[in-house]
Amino acid sequence: MTDHPALLLHGPVVLDPETGTELGDALLVDPDGTVAAVGSRADVMETLPGTDPPPREVRATGYALPGLINMHVHLGLALPGAMSQGWDTEDDAQTVLVMADSAARTLRAGVTTARLVGESRYLDMTLRAAIRRGAVPGPRLFTAGHALCCTGGHGWEADALEADGADGFARATRLQLRAGADLVKVCISGGIAGEHEDIDTPQLTDAELAAVIDTAHAWGKQVTAHAGSSETVRAALALGLDGVEHGYSLDEETIAMMVERGTWYVPTISVSRCRDFFELHEVPQWMIDRALSAGPEHWATLQRAVAAGVRIVMGSDMPPYAPFEGTTATVREMELMQEAGMSAREVLRSATSRAAEWLGAPGLGRLLPGSPADLVLIEDDPSTDVSALRGLRAVVSGGRVVRDDHDELGAWGTT
Ligand SMILES: [Zn+2]
Repeated sequence: MTDHPALLLHGPVVLDPETGTELGDALLVDPDGTVAAVGSRADVMETLPGTDPPPREVRATGYALPGLINMHVHLGLALPGAMSQGWDTEDDAQTVLVMADSAARTLRAGVTTARLVGESRYLDMTLRAAIRRGAVPGPRLFTAGHALCCTGGHGWEADALEADGADGFARATRLQLRAGADLVKVCISGGIAGEHEDIDTPQLTDAELAAVIDTAHAWGKQVTAHAGSSETVRAALALGLDGVEHGYSLDEETIAMMVERGTWYVPTISVSRCRDFFELHEVPQWMIDRALSAGPEHWATLQRAVAAGVRIVMGSDMPPYAPFEGTTATVREMELMQEAGMSAREVLRSATSRAAEWLGAPGLGRLLPGSPADLVLIEDDPSTDVSALRGLRAVVSGGRVVRDDHDELGAWGTT
């Protein structure tokens, strides 16, 4: 017998984006925060041994789906302009507080898992540990530590770790692994946020990139690359790169190579069409111009990738909770992916089970027995239109209620 009874969420239709099916209208959650059973109310009650106390039952309506996984997040994002004012970005204490605030907001936006692809001074490891301990609220974090770049390369102003030469990049990679990185992020071409570069500026030699990839792979970690152009991506794929971020301009040949190799793609399509967000944060005009000018080709690239069947996962790059076009950056990113040709189900997969596959975390992104009880509640069925996520009203993480706009989960209790 356990001290605390299990919880039974009864009423919402439980969706499984991986299979595109409805699992039932009852979800039994163990006191340890994992899903014990899912199905009809009678089905899940049958799984309880007679000696257990009856579950505490919570009634709700609408739809429940796995908590979202956002695969391109910077919790300490400080773009030039208003975002980095009033905050000494060199100061660890100030920075980790900004990151913790961002993590809490991310979780409340329904993002129960985030992949971090470039933070500062290993503060992401500190925060990851604090979230795991339950000391501060936040999503489950998978983090790259510092992004890596060449001297003066993309991201250097934002604390990407600069290295040069194959030995330098091997060491930079090992430093991230030593600190506890779950993956490695490397910037192999220019980007939007670098003043002295173009999006298609190649930045690493083959020997440098091979050092990163071979080192990470030897330690069982994947490598994803900030990459803008076809040439840089093709060279990197030949060296064994696992994932591409942004891919502002990828031609058919490059896309075909990604399909053949099973390369992952995180389009972050919002970043080349977010004028309002940039203007709100007063980022420099050159950055806005560069971002928006990449828009049409970035969009065409995403459409090519969708049509060809590239493995796409969702990442916003903007803060996941940032208000954007009437919703959050995360939900808007998903809407844009659907507008670019993905089915609603594929978009939902890209932000749940498919992302979990990249992370090597098979229980995540689904609500099956043994999965963490990470879920969001929404009013309408998102199966044909992901805009239904605009109606997100409650979030549960590891069996704990972290947001409950309508006070409907009150009986869930505070654990
Ligand atoms: Zn980024």
